[in-house]
Amino acid sequence: MKAPATTIFEHMSGLAREFGAINLGQGFPELPEPPELIAAAQAALAGHSNQYPPMRGIPELRSAVAHYYGRTQGLNLSADNVVATSGGTEALAASLFALVAPDDEVILVQPLYDAYLPLVQWVGGVAKVISLTPPEWTLPLDALAAAIGPKTRGIVLNTPNNPVGTMLTRAELEAVGALAQAHDLWVLCDEVWEAMVFDGTEHVSPLAIPTLASRAIKVGSAGKIFSMTGWKVGWAVAAPDLAARIAARHQFLTFTTPPALQWAAAEGLALPDSWFDAQRARYAGLKARLVHGLEAAGFKVLPGSGTWFITVDLAASGLPADDAALAERLVREAGVASIPVSAFYAEAPETGYLRLCFTKEEVVLDEAVARLARFREQFG
Ligand code: PMP
Repeated sequence: MKAPATTIFEHMSGLAREFGAINLGQGFPELPEPPELIAAAQAALAGHSNQYPPMRGIPELRSAVAHYYGRTQGLNLSADNVVATSGGTEALAASLFALVAPDDEVILVQPLYDAYLPLVQWVGGVAKVISLTPPEWTLPLDALAAAIGPKTRGIVLNTPNNPVGTMLTRAELEAVGALAQAHDLWVLCDEVWEAMVFDGTEHVSPLAIPTLASRAIKVGSAGKIFSMTGWKVGWAVAAPDLAARIAARHQFLTFTTPPALQWAAAEGLALPDSWFDAQRARYAGLKARLVHGLEAAGFKVLPGSGTWFITVDLAASGLPADDAALAERLVREAGVASIPVSAFYAEAPETGYLRLCFTKEEVVLDEAVARLARFREQFG
C-alpha cells in the first residue's frame, strides 16, 4: 500500500470543516475534559521540574502503569516492565524498530490501524496481511497459521479493535500463544482502547496468557484512558529484557515525554474505580444514544464492545455498499463526516462498512442521526 499524502482522518476532518458537517469521523471527544487530570497537569507544571525527565519515564508513572494493570487486568508487573513514550504511536514505533530487522516478515491483521504498515516497512520488514472475518470480525486462526513462514518474526494485534470495536477472546489469544511459542514469534498488541469497553466484556491482554507473557508487548495510551487525545503519553509494557530493547529505540525517537503530563497520567491512573466507572457510564450512554437513534432510522449497527466507534453495515441498512463513495456523499450532502472502514485495509478491502464516532454531546448525536435518517430516505 502506498502511504496516502494525508490520512483519511485528516481528509474527512478537512471536508467536515469545508462543508460545516458534524464530525463523527476522526476519533476525538467533544465533551468536557476531566478536571482532575487538568488540575494534576497544572500542579505538575508548577510543582515539578520541567527539564528532561528520565529517558524511560518518571518512576512514578512507570509504577502507576504497573499498578493500574494489576488492579484492572490482574497482571503482575513492576516499573521494570514499563517504558513511557510519547503516545501509543511512539510505543508501537519503538517496539517495531526494536523487533523488526530487514526482510523479517510481520503478520498484520486487517482492518488495521494506519500506523502499523508504514512502521514495519520503514525498518525493511515485510508485512503479511490477514483479515478479520466480518460481520463478527473474528480472528481467522487457520489463515494466521498459514501466514507463518520461516521468515516470520512477529504478529501485530489490536484489541479492542479500531475501527470495528470487537475484542480478542482469551481462547483466541491462547491459540495465538500456541502458534507464537511453536514458531518463536513476538506479539505486539495495541491495547490503547482497553479502558473503553462498554458491555462488560473482559479485556484480555496477551501478557495475561502464560505462553505469551515473555514474548508479548502491550501498548497503552493515557490519551485514550483519560479522553485527551492530544496528550500523547503512552507506554510499552513487556518482559524486562524486551522493555530494555524498546527503551533503546525510544531513546532516539523522542528520548523523553513531557514530565508534567507524565505526572498527571500517574495521578490519573491512581484514581478510584468509581472515577473510571463513571467515565465508562457516560460514554456507554452516548454510544447507546447513537446506536438506538440509527437503528430507529433503519440503519443496521454491528455489535462491538469497545472503542469510541460504532460500525454501520451499509448493505443491511439499505445503502450502497461502497463505503468510500458514501462517506464522501454523506459529508457533502448529509452534513455528517464518517470514516470508511475500507481505509483500514492494506489490500482487498471490505467496502460495506462505515465507522462513526459517538463521543459527542447528546444534541450533536441527535442532529447527526436526524441528518443521516433524511439522507437514507432517498434509498427507500
Ligand atoms: N492505536 C490505535 C488502535 C489507535 O486508535 C490510536 C489512536 N487513534 C493509537 C494507537 C495512537 O494512540 P496515541 O494517540 O496515544 O499515540
